[in-house]
Amino acid sequence: MDGVIDMFADLDLPKKKTCGRCLQLLALDSFAKNPCKPDGMSAVCKLCQKFHYKKWERAGDNLQRTSLRRKELRKADPRRFLFNEAKSRAKGLGRAFNISLDDIVIPDRCPVFGELLEVSESHWFAPSVDEKVYGLGYTKGNVQVISRLANAMKHKASPAQLRQFADWVYRTFPNMDTDKRMLESFMLPRSGDEARWTN
Ligand SMILES: [Zn+2]
Repeated sequence: MDGVIDMFADLDLPKKKTCGRCLQLLALDSFAKNPCKPDGMSAVCKLCQKFHYKKWERAGDNLQRTSLRRKELRKADPRRFLFNEAKSRAKGLGRAFNISLDDIVIPDRCPVFGELLEVSESHWFAPSVDEKVYGLGYTKGNVQVISRLANAMKHKASPAQLRQFADWVYRTFPNMDTDKRMLESFMLPRSGDEARWTN
């Protein structure tokens, strides 16, 4: 029996291990078992592991809370929602921003398409804040609320480019009848009022 104990003593097995995160030399029982690792133990100590997971749990919770708050605000106060969105976009793009909540005026219908604006996360006819002249920022007199579709079509175009685009559209689709048939075949997103396209 003594011989067996001596044999293990001679092997000089490591009794401590350095944590890959806090870099402390710690006793082996400070590490969780992990059969995927070559030494059968996790590379970071239990404490660091716990902290790591807690951190991600918190981050996930915060993200969920934020998106929930955004959704609630969109329904409860669409103007405030659009205002906040414009503000954070301006900040992200380094764009001028000096509007107040009063500058956000949501019309019933999209000024471009005449479709009813619908407060929604994914709808093409959801209201969205547009910089009238792209690049001048969210400044007094340079914002308007139009549908997301109109905003996406307008994108970065300058007023001159928009006029060129409009001219090109008239040249390419000179016939309203063709347009109607094309719209029907493409199933352009629409807001419930389907009679408009079928007459
Ligand atoms: Zn550690």
